[in-house]
Formats: sequence, structure tokens, C-alpha cells
Amino acid sequence: MHKLARLDHAHVWHPFTQMRDWLRREPIIITAGQGAVLRDVRGREFLDANSSIWTNLHGHNHPKLNAALKRQLGKIAHSSALGFANEPASLLAAKLVGMAKGESRMANHDTARAAADSQFAIRSSQLSKVFFSDDGSTAMEVALKLAYEFTRRTRGPKAKPRFLSLAGAYHGDTVGAVSLGHIDLFHQAYGGLLFKTDQVMSPYCYRCPFNRAQPERADAREYRKCNWECVDKVEAKCAAARKRGNDYAAFVFEPLMQGAAGMIPQPAGWLKRVTDIARGHGALLVADEVMTGFGRTGGAGEKVGKRESERGAPARQPTFPPAHFLTGSSAAGVQPDFLALAKGLTGGYLPMAATLTTQAVFDAFLGDYEEFKTFFHGHSYTGNQLGAAAALASLDLLAGRASIAARARLEKDLRCELKSLWSLPNVGDVRRVGLVAGVELVRAWRTREPFDLRERAGIRVCEAMARRGVLTRPIGNVVVLMPPYCTTTAQVRRMVEALREAGEEVLGGR
Ligand SMILES: *Cc1c(COP(=O)(O)O)cnc(C)c1O
Repeated sequence: MHKLARLDHAHVWHPFTQMRDWLRREPIIITAGQGAVLRDVRGREFLDANSSIWTNLHGHNHPKLNAALKRQLGKIAHSSALGFANEPASLLAAKLVGMAKGESRMANHDTARAAADSQFAIRSSQLSKVFFSDDGSTAMEVALKLAYEFTRRTRGPKAKPRFLSLAGAYHGDTVGAVSLGHIDLFHQAYGGLLFKTDQVMSPYCYRCPFNRAQPERADAREYRKCNWECVDKVEAKCAAARKRGNDYAAFVFEPLMQGAAGMIPQPAGWLKRVTDIARGHGALLVADEVMTGFGRTGGAGEKVGKRESERGAPARQPTFPPAHFLTGSSAAGVQPDFLALAKGLTGGYLPMAATLTTQAVFDAFLGDYEEFKTFFHGHSYTGNQLGAAAALASLDLLAGRASIAARARLEKDLRCELKSLWSLPNVGDVRRVGLVAGVELVRAWRTREPFDLRERAGIRVCEAMARRGVLTRPIGNVVVLMPPYCTTTAQVRRMVEALREAGEEVLGGR
């Protein structure tokens, strides 16, 4: 065993990992990366098929990001945001606000609502303030605390702010973020530490109890037969809260695709409808775009879910050419009150996060010092210069023609290549939003019968993929493909091929 592997085995406790399994075999020790390729200590090469747990955007060892970091290193690595401002954090905050503005302009362009809203209403609801933190969990923690306190300040100190989030949701693993989540496997153990939140069904078409369609060899959103009961459920939850005299303080969601819940995509139009309902019942909207942000949701012109008009839903015409939104909420035409950004913020280089919010929320924390309305929250590395410098360079790349073209090509490649997986009897659902795909493995596609988690089907398939030089991590029985934007057509093909072969090898196609 390599010396570094021995040290790891002796001392490192890995996240979300059964360490008994881990200690059974020699770990892959990554020493270098270039584009979508990772190299290990033994000189083997692997494709980074989940962008190093959904963080990397432009590929590893990117010359522009490297140069930006070197430039910043030549000045200073870190000084405190407690008491001081700094150059890259100020520039980044302005850039993120500009991004949010541009996004909402683009999103409103083709909705009637833009015309209905007065100029002032649009402006005051715009995201214009940025609170920095370190990762997705802390970005959600900020949104949660701000929404909680904003609600108490606007509804009165007796208010008991309550949150509504989606079934299966994952919003991070700090205690507040865990309270917003609903993954029993992760969260059960900490029940005693958590505060109560409500959950409502998410539009998991493939396993929806209201979907009367027989399984087909297609994305379940396309052939589902239902009456949008999932929308009714949100309406019923909000109405019940109102009846109790306690409207939800906030509705918390991942736009377009729930990530760690199992890559659960939303049928076109769903998010707009449920957020309109939640807002209509006084809830703030908290968009967790830790996974979906920075272009992951791809071209907005491509919307899946053809039975949109089944119950008279407003069919949003696809825009051509597809608009490449940087956030899922904008792509869905939704203007949140809080936008949590992390994973891809620095292009996958450094831990940094941002929570964007509105002037209205900001104003609720203004007062004379002795009123103690201050937002008493923050971390040692808040507004870190290196992270901000990387983020600025990453945002520049994202806005560039080359990145937009690369994203469009990657989206097309994924769409084409993923089709081949339908030939596997153990593939139940292949679902993709933009540049993110989840492949749900089942015992038999005709029945949708799931594998017992204890069989570790997803884990074993990913291990077999690693043996073929492709690295990703499953979520239960769902294998994730979320490559960096620089991934070539040939590399996408190899990723999908590895998944197909691994599925055949491990599950045997029975
Ligand atoms: C990963 C993730 C988080 C947590 O982010 P960390 O950086 O791991 O703390 C929160 N929300 C979503 C949607 C995520 O995908």
C-alpha cells in the first residue's frame, strides 16, 4: 500500500463514508488534474464524471483560474471581513448582484408578469445584498437565520416562523440546514438536535403515487399521467398553515432539479406554479442553488414535461436559441428572496459561498446600534480574498462565448449519449436537466422495483466504473453524471460507456 494511503487509513475520517468499507481497500490518491481528467499517485488517469462532487465547472488546473489565484496570492491571501472590506470580495458581491439582475431581466423578458410589476416592485424584490460564507451548508444557514429573523421582525416577536421544504430535500449538514432537509438516512440520528419543519411531496414523476402511466423507456416527466396533484399538495400545505394562523415564513427548494435527493427533476412549469402559491401565502422564497447554480441547468429553451397543459397550465414557450441562464430559478422564471450559492462559485477551486438577498430583508436589520438589530453571524474566513478572486475569474469564464458554447455542446452530448442507457433492463429512469443527469437503477424496469439499499447497487456500479477509469458517486441507487464544462464529446461517451458496462457487469442485466 502506498505510504500516503497508509497515513490516510491511519488518520483520516472521510465524509459520508462507512469507514469499515473504506479501510478494506487502498484508496485512490489524487495528485493532479487537467481538464476533466484526474491523475492518481500511481499515474493512473480517471475522468471526473461528477466534477469532484459537483464543484468543478471549467476543468482542473485551468490557466485563467490559476493566474487569478497567483495574482491574488501576490497581494494577500486573507484578511478579515470583520471590520474591513477587501478588493475581490467587494468586486465579487457587485458581480453576483449584477448576475442576479441580468438573470431576472432575462427571465422576465418573456413573462407577462414583468409588465404587470411596477418598476419599483421589480427593483425592491431584486437580489442586491450578498452575505459571504464558506460552503453550501453555511449559505443555507444564513438564508435560514435571515428568513427566520425577518419574519419575526415583520410579523411581530410572537411569530413562530415555520419552514416548508420538499420531501427528500438535502440542504447541507449543519444543524439548521439538516432541519430543512428530509433524508431520513442522514437525518434521523440527529432528530433530537433539530427544529421542526414541514415537508411537501416533490414532483418525483418516476415514483409518484399519482402517476398512472406504465413505465416507458423515456424520462418519466414526458409520459406521466397525472393531474398535477403535487401542485395541489403545496397549495393544501400553504392553506393549512394559513388556517392555523401561521403562514410559512419561507418555502425552501432547489430549482429545476433536486440534487442529493436523488437527482429529481421538476416537470416544466412546476416550480413557477408552486412558488406563486407559496408567495401568495406570504412565504419568502429560498432558492438553494448550491448544486444548480452557475450554468448547471443548461439551456432554458429545453423543457421536459410535455403534458404541461393537461390542466390548463400556462405553457411557457421555449425560447430559441436557448437562453443560458446561470441559475435554475431564473430559468424557471422565479425570483427568489434568497439565493444560496456555493459549490461552483469558485469554479471548484476553494470553499466559498454566498447568500444573496433583497434590500427589504437587509433593511429589517438596520437600526441604531443599541437596538441590537445586527445580524450576529459570520465566520473567520468570510469574504476570503483567494476564494473571491477565483470566483471572479470563474464568473468571467462563464460569461464568455467559449464557455457558453462548451455548455451547449456538453448538453447535446449528454442528451445523445445517455439514450444508449435505455437498453439496460436495470435502468429505470434516465433524467437530465441541462448538464446534470441521474440514472436510477432498478431491479426491473417494467415494474420500477427498486434495489434494497443494502444491496449497494449504486455503490457497486460506481466501483465498477472506477475500474474503467470513470469516477462518480451514487445517491442510493441513482448514478450521477455531472461532468465539468470542458468535457469533450469523446470523454462524455466514455463516461456513459463505463456506466453501461458497469451496469451490465454488476447487475447482469437480469
Ligand atoms: C452540496 C449541497 C449543499 C451543502 O453544501 P456543502 O458545501 O456540502 O456544505 C446544500 N444544498 C445543496 C442543494 C447541495 O447540493
